[in-house]
Amino acid sequence: RAKLSGRSRHIFFTPELDQAQRDRSVLITSLRRAVDRQDFELFYQPQLLIKEQRLLGFEALLRWPQDTGEHVSPGAFIDVLEETGLIGELGEWAIGQACGQHRIWLRKGLIGPATTMSVNVSARQLGTPHFAQRVAATLDKHSMRPDSLILEITESALVQTIETNIINDIKDLGVQISLDDFGTGYSSLAYLSQLPLDHLKIDRSFIADIKRFPHAVTVIKSIIALARTLGIRVIAEGVEDGDILPMLAKEGCEGYQGYYFSKPLPAREMANTLKNLETVRLSHYANFIDLD
Ligand code: C2E
Ligand code: MG
Ligand code: MG
Ligand code: MG
Repeated sequence: RAKLSGRSRHIFFTPELDQAQRDRSVLITSLRRAVDRQDFELFYQPQLLIKEQRLLGFEALLRWPQDTGEHVSPGAFIDVLEETGLIGELGEWAIGQACGQHRIWLRKGLIGPATTMSVNVSARQLGTPHFAQRVAATLDKHSMRPDSLILEITESALVQTIETNIINDIKDLGVQISLDDFGTGYSSLAYLSQLPLDHLKIDRSFIADIKRFPHAVTVIKSIIALARTLGIRVIAEGVEDGDILPMLAKEGCEGYQGYYFSKPLPAREMANTLKNLETVRLSHYANFIDLD
């Protein structure tokens, strides 16, 4: 207590706030230890072409396994990783791990060389020294085709790098860039045409709104149309209900990911999920007959 008030003299500590501070420093300590031990796991979520129901690639998503067997999602700790700078080290681990997994699946014949692996990258991580060189070394280590790697970056993270050369350095490697959570950040449309984007992901909040708000569809249609004008491929995230897929496909959204096809899963469970793809494809086709 004395220490805390010494550091932040002007904060009035209610018992609740005090407790929150303590919880937070406990969280920081255990995260630090977990990062040191590489005590994390990546789950993978398939991304599919909507019309063909063919596999486009995967998004790698961080999970923090607990002694209880539970896998904690990044929502609970990603901001702490950012603020402490731990995201630099852990994010680099994630890129290496995802590229290594891509190579394993490729060797097993489960995927093709053009199947992509998307990895999320935060603003702080992009700002770490020699980021692009380290990505290049990782690609090299796993003999991975640079265009099979997609870095997913949010609008606000991209905007923070606009004064630097980092995005161009990444593009020069041949790695693809995806604008994540589109519509939730800066939303300055001017940036869309200034940044060398390959993909844009419509945030899942828009997708979730479709059923409730008719206007959501109008917004989604405009996003897709705009992206297409700029030559950016569009992916819908958070698709839980297959009913909306024909509309998305009709507007020109190529791909999707979401619980409708699969939740993010541990690598070892992916083989079975991919085997199911054939069955899903057959049953899915009927919805699209009037589009062809
Ligand atoms: P994101 O990149 O936008 O990832 C999509 C999130 O939506 C994931 O949450 C995923 O599990 C969830 N999701 C996918 N399909 C559905 C669906 O149909 N319904 C619903 N309700 N949710 C769905 P997750 O795994 O909790 O990750 C949260 C965020 O944490 C990610 O958002 C990303 O910004 C960040 N993150 C995850 N892994 C990494 C990483 O390795 N590095 C960095 N820097 N950030 C990461
Ligand atoms: Mg993402
Ligand atoms: Mg997203
Ligand atoms: Mg998100």
